[in-house]
Amino acid sequence: MNIGSNDALIVVDVQNDFCPGGTAAVEDGDAVARKMSDVALNFRSRDGRVFATQDWHPTDHRSFADNGGIWPTHCVRGSQGAEFHKDLKLPIGSSIVRKGEDVEGDAYSGFDGTSLESHLERLSVRRVFVGGLSTEYAVQHTVYDALQKGYSAFVITDAISAVNANPDDDQRALDSMLASGAKPITTDELIGQ
Ligand SMILES: [Zn+2]
Repeated sequence: MNIGSNDALIVVDVQNDFCPGGTAAVEDGDAVARKMSDVALNFRSRDGRVFATQDWHPTDHRSFADNGGIWPTHCVRGSQGAEFHKDLKLPIGSSIVRKGEDVEGDAYSGFDGTSLESHLERLSVRRVFVGGLSTEYAVQHTVYDALQKGYSAFVITDAISAVNANPDDDQRALDSMLASGAKPITTDELIGQ
């Protein structure tokens, strides 16, 4: 696919706590980190814009079980668990988008309470390509918001991974994103010309 300066890659929450060994891990987090690195470097080499979201919570965040939420404590700002996966290589010029900094709200979407939309507007971005973690939470909600804000949204189907509290949550999330107007693309299709 042709990629240019009106295209943005959104690398969603490829952080230690969502990867094997983390407190809210998905099974394929390590592989997703490597795939999104390849895509990000390729994207940047073709003048695409690269954004990486980072869940970045205060210790008393309401999504944590200790505070009445449904999640184990994860991605506490400044902690090792909140750092990007060691294999995630972001090209120079990438923008980091931190979310979930307020005590309230899950902030699954990269657009939720962040400056992502204003960055995309300023850069005249029209298409966004979304991959990362986790499929049925942050990836799905980022895609929904992108579509709702009028962007053409692509899901990188082999560079996402799900929590799968129910075994088919990943497929249901993908079906829902596609039914909402997102388009599927693989890393090979994206990186290939
Ligand atoms: Zn979170």
